[in-house]
Amino acid sequence: MSIAENVAYIRERVTNAARRAGRDPSAIALMAVSKTFPPESIREAHAAGLRLFGENRVQEFDAKLNSLHDLPGADWHLIGHLQSNKAARAAELFTAVDSLDSPKLAEKLNAAAEQAAKTLPVLIEINVGGEQAKTGLAPNSEEFEMILSAAPQWKNLHIQGLMTVPPFADDPEQARPYFRKLREIRDRIAARLLPAVAMNVLSMGMSHDFEVAIEEGSTCVRIGTAIFGERA
Ligand SMILES: *Cc1c(COP(=O)(O)O)cnc(C)c1O
Repeated sequence: MSIAENVAYIRERVTNAARRAGRDPSAIALMAVSKTFPPESIREAHAAGLRLFGENRVQEFDAKLNSLHDLPGADWHLIGHLQSNKAARAAELFTAVDSLDSPKLAEKLNAAAEQAAKTLPVLIEINVGGEQAKTGLAPNSEEFEMILSAAPQWKNLHIQGLMTVPPFADDPEQARPYFRKLREIRDRIAARLLPAVAMNVLSMGMSHDFEVAIEEGSTCVRIGTAIFGERA
């Protein structure tokens, strides 16, 4: 299967999942997660109509972007853990950061975005499963509250919503309670009408579980393997 065929098939499945849930398919963004794949693969996905790309490492993307500057309309999101010492470079390279996971990083990113004369849309990453090995904030953590309350002072960051990677399970149904939990967290925060905190985006669902995520309210599915194939 070519990348274009894979994209067509994923789009069809996104549409069907949205319809099943009584949702508008156009309310769900399809992000191509291109980590480990070369610029040519990104070009193919772009030719197939995709504009939203997710990369998880600053250095890897730095090298790739050199040969991708001519792609019109591409939206480059960082979806992997960002170390504070790479915040400056990340703010230059990416159009958005979907993996904000500490107040300290928010501080650094805001300063870096100001330097780069841009405003960075960000998502707060939540560790819904409370897994030791995963990054992301605990839903009831002090750090999460700190980010929410300090948001107005970070003029160059725009908090748009939440992102999560649930515990892995072969059966996508096992991820459903985690997706639901993220949506509930989102709803609770949205109801507080906090200044400078928008909660429009729920980034959840990957190749093996995106249909369940859509049924639970995802507005952005992050698909790697099902578009580009298995990673080496
Ligand atoms: C790699 C990755 C994905 C895509 O995973 P697939 O299972 O290949 O679709 C999505 N989100 C994050 C944060 C990732 O690191």
